[in-house]
Amino acid sequence: MSIDLSVLNGPQRQAVECTEGPLLVLAGAGSGKTRVLTFRIAHLVNDLGVAPWEILAITFTNKAAKEMQTRVADIIGPRSRGMWVSTFHSMCVRMLRADAERLGFSRNFTIYDDSDSNRLVKEIMAELDIDPRRFPIKALRGRISQAKNELMVPGDFTARVSDPVGKVAARVYERLQDRLRKANAFDFDDLLLYGYLLLKHYPDALEAYQERFRYIMVDEYQDTNHAQYEITRLLAARHRNIMVVGDDDQSIYSWRGADLRNILDFEEDYPSCTTVKLEQNYRSVGNVLKAANAVIANNTERKVKNLFTEAQDGDPVKVYCASDERDEGRWIAGRIEQRRGEGMSYNQMAVFYRTNAQSRMIEDMFLRAGVPYRIVGGTRFFERQEISDVMAYLTCVVNPSDDIAAKRVVNVPRRGVGKTTVELLEGRARETGATFLQEAEMALADQSLRAATRTALGEFLGVLEAGRSFSGDLRRVVEAIIDQSGLIAALEAEGTDEAHGRIDNIREFLGVVDEFADTHTDEDALFEAPTAVSEADGEDGPGVRTLRGDSLADFIEWVRLRTDLDAAGDDGNAVTLMTVHASKGLEFDCVFVAGMEESLFPSARSIQESASVEEERRLAYVAITRARKYLYLTYASQRTIYGQTQVNPVSRFIHEIPPEVRSAVGVGSAGFSGTGWEKRGSRRGIAGSGTEAGEGRVFGRSSASGAGERARRGKTGFSSASEGRSGARATFSSGDKVSHKTFGAGVVTKVDGDTIFVRFSKTGQVKKLLKDYAPIVKV
Ligand code: ATP
Ligand code: MG
Repeated sequence: MSIDLSVLNGPQRQAVECTEGPLLVLAGAGSGKTRVLTFRIAHLVNDLGVAPWEILAITFTNKAAKEMQTRVADIIGPRSRGMWVSTFHSMCVRMLRADAERLGFSRNFTIYDDSDSNRLVKEIMAELDIDPRRFPIKALRGRISQAKNELMVPGDFTARVSDPVGKVAARVYERLQDRLRKANAFDFDDLLLYGYLLLKHYPDALEAYQERFRYIMVDEYQDTNHAQYEITRLLAARHRNIMVVGDDDQSIYSWRGADLRNILDFEEDYPSCTTVKLEQNYRSVGNVLKAANAVIANNTERKVKNLFTEAQDGDPVKVYCASDERDEGRWIAGRIEQRRGEGMSYNQMAVFYRTNAQSRMIEDMFLRAGVPYRIVGGTRFFERQEISDVMAYLTCVVNPSDDIAAKRVVNVPRRGVGKTTVELLEGRARETGATFLQEAEMALADQSLRAATRTALGEFLGVLEAGRSFSGDLRRVVEAIIDQSGLIAALEAEGTDEAHGRIDNIREFLGVVDEFADTHTDEDALFEAPTAVSEADGEDGPGVRTLRGDSLADFIEWVRLRTDLDAAGDDGNAVTLMTVHASKGLEFDCVFVAGMEESLFPSARSIQESASVEEERRLAYVAITRARKYLYLTYASQRTIYGQTQVNPVSRFIHEIPPEVRSAVGVGSAGFSGTGWEKRGSRRGIAGSGTEAGEGRVFGRSSASGAGERARRGKTGFSSASEGRSGARATFSSGDKVSHKTFGAGVVTKVDGDTIFVRFSKTGQVKKLLKDYAPIVKV
């Protein structure tokens, strides 16, 4: 049976059915671009008999890739297997795993994350005697990253730069690439750079991929950088069946090298291309769409689009003026509970902010109010010290050349390998060209080292050996490393709450290992790469060599390629907190955008330059267009952020929304100098409707807060607003069994003034709560 394309509108259908030749779908937010891409894949496979392995679809995040795969599988079933649906980075990893040797790497290469790269660059700067105060590491790394994204190898870059920072960056870049190669490691930018170099310098490899990928599709094309552009161009050069979809108004990653020209010049690159415009928005109610259209109309450099909807106008966009950031967080929590009371689930709601620094206060207020939330981005699980340590051990097991990983854990936990020893081994490695681990091994017989040092080095190498002895059984390797390294024992000896938290994280890491094992069946662990050496044409297509991945190496790669943006799990029922950048492509019934103030959104830096205000405006457009039904914009008349108190005017983006589609709710009385909502909440047990207090009229904010607060607390059944700070709550002490509205059962581990620490049995994690405000009772 063929795919039912009647669920698409005319232009959408045209884009799905236009399968041959270059195709550009340029359309505004929520017009069905991603949906069209998904249907097109299903149509190719199901209706036109295209083999799944002939299809390459590129998405912006791993999560989006997974979603697309699931959606295609929903339409055409298991036939969807074998398609490459991935990010550019994951695709390059696949290509490099197959052909790393040609580029001077081996297949078990490591992928460096940001902190690994930082360590290495720092080391190199020290070696080259570069003063980090004159040449900040951030600036140098920025230049190197830019060079890589523009596909300049060190030689090209050195020849091109003339400014002082550039010249220093060129020296660092040169050495960095040598060191990465020696460590058998790629950083994120390298994945694209070497992916490109492989295609460019090995025609047989290029031809094999070109032959294979008859249909190439790229989502969010407006945010591709030059490297991604070139990779796509090379791959598509043979069949030229390339479809790119994007929205120039949603280009928000220029600071990371994304180049809007890639989409704007597509018609020039492929003069024969078909262009389809999608103009109907299916996502948002009328007022939200009108607000978005009006805001983006202020940008001058854009292709003008006419986006309409057949949906009802819906509620106006609601604008709330908070007295400060605490009031803002509290008010948002109140509205969320209200929507929840009306039957909307938490995971249909999201709060966006311009910078991660804003999340702390919102989180704080959510914790107090008992609103469950999940944060996307920020400090990620895998960036925690103890997790990075375990990862470094695992990396040493797989890739013994990775000096950065080896040096990271040679003395973690402390086993008596001091700085002097590390520097000695480093120096020897530099002289002999051996790796750090090889030098460590040689040092075992070196009588000039203290016996204790040799024993310690021996222990360390023994841990890695133990890990290696279980290769093939991922879970056992990880367990062996955790047990034998002594990481947990050392933390236990420390005995602090923090140390216990770290132990819990390490245990949770084993859960991550299991998650990986569950989601990566044997079949997924196989990755296919076409090679010039054509083998028998198997199920995977001509010239495809099927390689079995090493499970530990696959696991490390999987962890490394998880990005901030992927952390948005669909698990659990929780409100999503994320930066606007991370929200791209997503949609929610109810969206809050916090911090709509000049200097915050648009950012202070962008205000200096009109070009970057345009990028901020695109960001505002992305934020607004994520909302299906309800959109709330909040700003604070006074805000403390980065340790400073600021008074900022309301964001220009609010002014740009026509007055007839927005309404002020619970506008705060200017000049109110409350010290925090909890005080007001406790002072005023003012009766209120308990619904959208103050909506549509100017209302004393504090009383609106009181009403919302009361309604919420009433609902939780823990305490009423008037009890707030009265001390009528239970007195807690260590060892008390308690129950929290959101986190469930737990035990108090420590009481410190107003603060209590509770270890929750469900997660094993210790949370810090304010005892008077957390929805918590003794059981
Ligand atoms: P963005 O620019 O934000 O990435 P998009 O253009 O990719 O948006 P989609 O996410 O594909 O848009 O679609 C937006 C919403 O509209 C989705 O919920 C999708 O299912 C729905 N939608 C798209 N086209 C149709 C249609 N023809 N009929 C019904 N619903 C549709
Ligand atoms: Mg999309």
